[in-house]
Amino acid sequence: MPHDVRGVVAKTKGEPVSVETIHIPDPGPGEVVIDVQACGVCHTDLHYREGAINDDFPFLLGHEASGIVSQIGAGVTNLTEGDFVVLNWRAVCGECRSCLRGKPQYCFSTHNAQQKMTLDGIELSPALGIGAFAEKTLVAAGQATKVSNAVEPEVAGLIGCGVMAGLGAALNTGGVTRGDSVAVWGCGGVGDAAIEGSRIAGAHTIIAIDLDQRKLEWAKEFGATHTINSSDMDSSQVIEAVQRLTSGNGVDVAIEAIGLPATYEQAFYSRDLAGTVVLVGVPSPEMRIDLPLIEVFGRGGALKSSWYGDCLPSRDFPMLIDLYLQGRLQLDRFVSEKITIEEVENAFLKMERGEVLRSVVII
Ligand SMILES: [Zn+2]
Ligand SMILES: [Zn+2]
Repeated sequence: MPHDVRGVVAKTKGEPVSVETIHIPDPGPGEVVIDVQACGVCHTDLHYREGAINDDFPFLLGHEASGIVSQIGAGVTNLTEGDFVVLNWRAVCGECRSCLRGKPQYCFSTHNAQQKMTLDGIELSPALGIGAFAEKTLVAAGQATKVSNAVEPEVAGLIGCGVMAGLGAALNTGGVTRGDSVAVWGCGGVGDAAIEGSRIAGAHTIIAIDLDQRKLEWAKEFGATHTINSSDMDSSQVIEAVQRLTSGNGVDVAIEAIGLPATYEQAFYSRDLAGTVVLVGVPSPEMRIDLPLIEVFGRGGALKSSWYGDCLPSRDFPMLIDLYLQGRLQLDRFVSEKITIEEVENAFLKMERGEVLRSVVII
């Protein structure tokens, strides 16, 4: 039976979001309907509202979510009704050239639900193919990953986006390991998750870099061993500060979690020889970078980008939830506040002012 439920919609570019009654169809083949329990407020939701992602308004926002499987479409074998799941942006196909090479985490042909949720008969564009600031949402079965139901919904949902991106930037893309030195530029949700990932991987030195002292204090709680407040420094001073903290050498892994050319350059010059630079911050299309090619060659190592933390949800989500339940991964520290579905617009303002790591909508 289809459902009419409440959901947070961005109707037009730059206008405040509103809670609307939206229509959720029954799941088609390979689709499932989820009773959403919690959904974190992410910068990407705000970028959709501002028209910075594309112009496919109206958007159904929300994509960092957990919930219960309530309806199953034909042919779905990985889930049953009542399963507690974390949602992901992208169901892997199992058939593309990356999947066939045994690297489904890089799947080149991911998919979302085929059917559309609607508002007054108009098709909604769900944020990142999810749309979970809503009492129910429709996703492809591969977008829902079953995890232990011993974890609170507001904590579980976090690993569906920003926290996974940061943890994965350190653990999957950067390959941080015991004894490494790491520096992280930008200490919001993604950067702090990269710090947390470096800590659980056994990094010896973890340097947090930000303009905001409050964020540097948060970074210390996640495991930063040193902080650099770069608010009154130029790039060469930041690079020198990182080198001073690493016996003059630079770090083994430099993680840029902002997405700006200036901080990327700092990361590039702050790593040790044969070190790795990981770009997990999302740049905008007009940004350019100018590096001497001889430095790219001469320093060796690797320049990598980390898309969704190079995660494979079916592999990583249950493992991370288990680490949390064992007390080895700090996930609850990311939850700054729990809010209602009516408070999303206000949560955007708090996020822009840097007052919260994550506001989480409880549904
Ligand atoms: Zn997100
Ligand atoms: Zn694939």
